[in-house]
Amino acid sequence: MILVREGTDALDPEIFWARRGDALAFLPGFYAFPGGQRDAEDAEIPVENAEDADAAAMLACAARELFEETGVLVARGAETLTRGQLASVLDDLTSGRMTFAELLTHYGLHLDASDFRFVGRWVTPPFSPRRFDTLFFLVRCPRKQEPRILSAEFSEGAWAKAGEALARWQRAEVLAVPPVIHALRTLAAGMTDDLVERFLSVPQAHGRPVRRIEFLPGFVCFPLRTPTRPPATTTNCYVVGASEFVVIDPASPHADEQTELHAYIDELLAAGRSLREIVLTHLHPDHVGGAEALREHLGGSVTVAAHRLTAEPLVGRVRVDRLVEDGEVIELEGEPRLRLRAMHTPGHTRGHLSFYEERTGALLTGDNIVGIGSVLIDPPEGDVRAYLSTLERFRALPHLQILLGGHGPAVGSPRVKIDEYIRHRLERERDILAAVRGGASSPAAIVARVYSDVHPKMHAMAERAVLAHLEKLCADGLVALAADGDAAPLARPV
Ligand SMILES: [Zn+2]
Repeated sequence: MILVREGTDALDPEIFWARRGDALAFLPGFYAFPGGQRDAEDAEIPVENAEDADAAAMLACAARELFEETGVLVARGAETLTRGQLASVLDDLTSGRMTFAELLTHYGLHLDASDFRFVGRWVTPPFSPRRFDTLFFLVRCPRKQEPRILSAEFSEGAWAKAGEALARWQRAEVLAVPPVIHALRTLAAGMTDDLVERFLSVPQAHGRPVRRIEFLPGFVCFPLRTPTRPPATTTNCYVVGASEFVVIDPASPHADEQTELHAYIDELLAAGRSLREIVLTHLHPDHVGGAEALREHLGGSVTVAAHRLTAEPLVGRVRVDRLVEDGEVIELEGEPRLRLRAMHTPGHTRGHLSFYEERTGALLTGDNIVGIGSVLIDPPEGDVRAYLSTLERFRALPHLQILLGGHGPAVGSPRVKIDEYIRHRLERERDILAAVRGGASSPAAIVARVYSDVHPKMHAMAERAVLAHLEKLCADGLVALAADGDAAPLARPV
C-alpha cells in the first residue's frame, strides 16, 4: 500500500514508508511500504466496484493490513468516525473481538475499489525460498488520519517526499528493493495523468520475476540458477560499477542462464559502459561456473582476477590472469564512483575474497555470509579458526551498512547478522567439545549427539563441519585429533 499524504504537492508527493526491523529474516533494515499477506477471510469482504472476486479479496487484504500496521482505515464511512471511535475500531480488530468483515458491517463502513489504484504486481526473484507475489496499490491517506507504526515488523516509519526518498537511496543512506525504488522514481516525476501507465511501464510490474536487483546504486545482483547447496537454488552474480564495471562470480554452468547474463552484459556494453574484468570470490563451481563462458562470449579479451589460493586449484578449469591481494583497491569510474577494497577472507575456502566499498558501506561477502541457508566449513579448504577471524574482521568495518552475499537476499542489518553467525559457531563448538568430553570420539558419533535436529540425509555434510570444528579445538589445545578424525579430550587448560 503506497499511502500518499492528503493535500500533498502533486509535483513531488509525500508517501509513507517504514524501515523493516533488524531481526527480520527477510530483508531486515530495508525500507518498504505497509502491507502483508492475504488470509482466507479477506475473500469474504464485499468490495464495491471490484473487477472480480480475486481483485476484491486483494483489496480487502490491502485495506486490512494497512489498518493493522498503520491505523489508517481506507473505507467509505470512516470519515464520520472520530479519532476515538477509530481507535476502538482498531482495538476491536487487533484484540480479535471482531474480524475485519464484521467490524466494517458493525460500523456501517464499506470498501470501494475506486479508492485504490493498482500500480503493479512484482514477484520476488528465485533467490529465496520465501517468495512474494505482491500487488501494489496507490491510495490517498484519508483526511484527519495519520499513519503510525503499529506493527512489530517495522522499526520506524515516516512521511517522505518521493524525490527526497529516492535521493537518499541514491546516496546509499537507505536500503530499498526494486519495486519501492521504481515507485519512488515514478512518483518523483509527479502525479501526472499518465502516472499509472508509468508505474506499469516496466515488465517487472506485470509479475515477471525480477532478474536484476539494484540493492544500492551501482550494485546489481543477478541471481543465476546453479547446482548449489540446498536450500539455495541460485548463486548471486554481482555487476558492480557504473561507466566502468566488474562482474563478480559469473556463477552458472547452465547454458540458458549464461545466455541471460551475457545478454545483460551486452546491454551494458552497448550503452557505452566498459567491463574492467571478471572477479572470482572463491573456487566453488557454483561461483566460477560461468567464467570461461563469459570470457568466450566477449571474444576472449576480458581478464579473470582472483586470489592466488583460488587461482592455483582452478588450473585447468578456469584461467586466472591476475592475482588479487588483500588490501588492493579496484577503482571503478562513473557515477557513482566506487572503490572496492579486496579483503582476503579465508574460512569458507582458503583463497576467499570479499570486497568492501567504504562510501556505501556495502560488503560483498561471497559465501562467508549468505542471505539464505548456512555456510559450510569443509576442510581442508574450510577452516573454522580462519572463518571466525574473518567474521571479526567484517564486524570491525567502520561504516558497514549492507551484506551482499553469494546466495539469497541482501542483509540490511549487518552487525546483527554477523553476531548471529559468530554466536552460532561458538555454540556449535561448545556442544562439540561437550560431546567429545562426554565420550563421543568420531565425527559420526558427535553428529549423532550434536546435530540431532538435522535430517540424516545431511549427516555426511555435518560430519565435515564437525571435523572443521575439531581441527580448531585441536589448534586451541582442547582436543587431540588422530589422523582418522577421531577426537579425544585434552585436560582443560588451567
Ligand atoms: Zn562456496
